[in-house]
Amino acid sequence: MKSLIKKAEESHFLSKPEIIRLLEDNSINDELFRAADRVRKKFVGDEIHLRALIEFSNICSRNCFYCGVRAENKNIKRYRLMPDEIIQLAKNALNSGYKTIVLQSAEDMYYTAEMLADIIKEIKKNDTAVTLSIGERSYQEYKILKDAGADRFLLRIETTDKELYRKLHPNMSFENRIRCLKDLKELGYETGTGCLVGLPDQTINSLADDILFFKELDADMVGLGPLIPHKDTPLKDVKADGFWLSLKVLALTRLLLPDINIPATTAMETIQSNGRILALQSGANVVMPNVTDEFHRSQYEIYPGKKSVDYTKLEEKFKQINRTISQNKGFR
Ligand code: SAM
Repeated sequence: MKSLIKKAEESHFLSKPEIIRLLEDNSINDELFRAADRVRKKFVGDEIHLRALIEFSNICSRNCFYCGVRAENKNIKRYRLMPDEIIQLAKNALNSGYKTIVLQSAEDMYYTAEMLADIIKEIKKNDTAVTLSIGERSYQEYKILKDAGADRFLLRIETTDKELYRKLHPNMSFENRIRCLKDLKELGYETGTGCLVGLPDQTINSLADDILFFKELDADMVGLGPLIPHKDTPLKDVKADGFWLSLKVLALTRLLLPDINIPATTAMETIQSNGRILALQSGANVVMPNVTDEFHRSQYEIYPGKKSVDYTKLEEKFKQINRTISQNKGFR
C-alpha cells in the first residue's frame, strides 16, 4: 500500500484497481492524507484561496433525490434575489477583500443568460474572478455568460454510476451533464466538477470511476463531500457517514490531479467537527465562505445544519496549520 501511495505521489497516476485498493484499506489513511498534503504544498503552495459564495435563488425546477431545495419540497420558503441585490452582495464581498465571487443557485430559469450576463458584467467592473454554479444550460447560454466575463463554472457530475445517476435525478440525463461539462471546457471556463460520497448503493468501484473521470476531464477544480440527508427528501433515512471516505476521495484526487483547486467544502465541516481543517490538511486549498445575507442563507437549505465560516477567525485558524490567505485570484 505504501508503494502505491508513493507511486501516486511521484507519477500522479493510478490504475482503477489500485485506486480501489487504496479506498478499501483504511489502515493507510494517515499515510494517504499526508502524501496528498505534500503534493498540495509542492504544486499549489500554502496559500488558501477564499471564494465568496452568493446563493441567489433556491427556486428549482429539478428533483434531485438528495437535495433539500428540490422542486417537490413544499416545506421551504422560496426566494429569488434581484440583480441589484446580487450585485450589492458581490460589492460587499469585494470590499472585504475577496478576489472571487461565486454565483450559485438552484436551477432557476427565471434568470435568462442575458440577465446573468448583465450581472456578471457589472461585477467584473471590479478586479475579480467570477465563478458560476447554476446548473445545466445550453452551449449558447454558457457562451453568453463566458463572453460576459465569467471565468469559472462548477457543475458536479455527482456520480459517474449511470444507473445510480438515473435513479437519483428524475427527468435528467447523465449524457446531458457530460455535454455541459464538455461545453464548459471547450468555451474556456476553468471547469469544476465533483461528486457526492455516501449515496445509497454507491460502490467503491464507482468512486474510483469518479476520480478517474475528474482526471479524464482534466477538471480544473474538484468539489466533493459527504451526502447529508435532508428530512424532506427521498434520501432522508440514509446514514450520514461519508466523511472519512470523502476525505480519501479528496486525497486521491489531489494525488492524481496535483495542480488543481480543491475546496474544503461546507458539507465536510457540517458532518465532522474540524472537517474543514482536516480537508485542508489532506489536499484541499480553497475555502468558500458564504456571503449571502443570513436571512436567505438559512433558506438555501440543500442539507440541514450548514456550517458557516467565521471570517474573523479564519486567518488565525489557517495560521495554526501554517497556511496563509491568498491575495490573488487563484486560477489553476
Ligand atoms: N443547481 C446547481 C447544480 O446542480 O450544479 C448548483 C446548486 S446544487 C444545490 C450544489 C451542490 O449541492 C450539488 O452539486 C450537490 O452535490 C450538493 N448537494 C445537494 N444536496 C446535498 C446534500 N443533501 N448533501 C450534500 N451535498 C448536497
